[in-house]
Amino acid sequence: MPLTGLQIFKLLPNTNCRKCGYPTCLAFAMKLAAGRESLEKCPDASPEARAALGAASAPPIRGVTIGRGERAVTVGEETVFFRHEKTFVRRPGLFRILDPRGLSAAECGALLNDWLGVSIARAGETFRVDGVAIVEAPGAPEAASAAARRGFPVAVLAATPEGAASIAEPIKDQRPLIVPPAGAAPAAYFALAARLGVPLVVAGADLAGLASAAAAASSAGVGDILLEPPGADLRSLHHSLSAIRRGALDRVHPGLGHPVFLRAGRGEFEKAVLGITKFASVLAIEDHGGETWLPLWTLRQNIYTDPQKPLQMEPGVYPLGEPDSRSPLLMTTNFSLTYFIVSTEVEASGVAAHLAVVDAEGLSVLTAWSAGKLSGDRVAKSLRQTGAVDRVSHRTLIIPGYASPISGELEDAMGDGWRVIVGPQEASDIAPFFRDVWEPMRAR
Ligand code: SF4
Repeated sequence: MPLTGLQIFKLLPNTNCRKCGYPTCLAFAMKLAAGRESLEKCPDASPEARAALGAASAPPIRGVTIGRGERAVTVGEETVFFRHEKTFVRRPGLFRILDPRGLSAAECGALLNDWLGVSIARAGETFRVDGVAIVEAPGAPEAASAAARRGFPVAVLAATPEGAASIAEPIKDQRPLIVPPAGAAPAAYFALAARLGVPLVVAGADLAGLASAAAAASSAGVGDILLEPPGADLRSLHHSLSAIRRGALDRVHPGLGHPVFLRAGRGEFEKAVLGITKFASVLAIEDHGGETWLPLWTLRQNIYTDPQKPLQMEPGVYPLGEPDSRSPLLMTTNFSLTYFIVSTEVEASGVAAHLAVVDAEGLSVLTAWSAGKLSGDRVAKSLRQTGAVDRVSHRTLIIPGYASPISGELEDAMGDGWRVIVGPQEASDIAPFFRDVWEPMRAR
């Protein structure tokens, strides 16, 4: 359990020496309790205090990484039951099930290349296939190696310990996840995962059995564990998923402090939805195509977006249509919703344009200006840094109507003969603005 401020205070030297930057040990303890400071700032903290605080601040759910490199999937380390309490830390990894039965090596390779090519941008996130779950079958070792070579994290949906070894051992350096079949005797899988040093899924007939299985795997030398929850139907699965998270957060049993694995077979779309909404960390999903994935990715994005951080676009210059140096240059802020509304209206107008997105800490135009995040100097600096000023020859910048108070200072900050034109307040008026203001101005 996390320590309270007063409990932490009792562990500190209580000399009020101020070396940590705070006037008293109590003030520092309160910041530590809120997770806003590190004990490293107190040079006089005793080893006992460090040990106690270290244990208390460890996340109640262990982190586990599957795969290596840029596409590796790390899960766990969650600290809350409800997102609004703080935030969810690790979004679940969605693994696509590959059954190599009936497929040649070339067909498997082509399928993996297709999955590798999936890249769908939505609201500042790129959806892609997070990993591949290989079914133990003839051709599975080759398919797993082919997936690992492409950078995919791999889960091995085993049927036998020997089969799991033949698939996982050649790619053990890529940290594949071994998933035993339902009801399997666990000892051989414990030994395999411990020998290869890879993560393992454990299961149990009920929550007590699951926690005991995790503890037994840990005792057998398995370092990284995922829990497959019991649940014959959606109702009991829902209960298991919630109870595991609650039990982990309350630290009622060390065996529950691990991420959760779930498999959703063909037609079990609701199970996948339940897993995403109720704390599953890795889902192996059998599917028929993109129509399965788009709603799942979108659901995951909505749940795992940090409510304390606005969705943001990367600052830069975005071409809308095929603009050239005579096309209009518009400016907006990097709040994702603002960007999508403006870009949609520009595209609907049929006028190709450059849209310069300025860093305003993810705030909309009016909010950013009100909060002092949208000054003339800041916008001018951003337009130069992103190269927006080099995209057009007419030296005219169109700013949103809500940013009109900065038009004068922005024009001064831009210098070099730049003109700043105040555009419409509402994005829906962009097309009439192009027609009635921009085109006549350009024709002159
Ligand atoms: S550095 Fe340590 S002993 Fe000094 S005031 Fe801060 S918490 Fe207290």
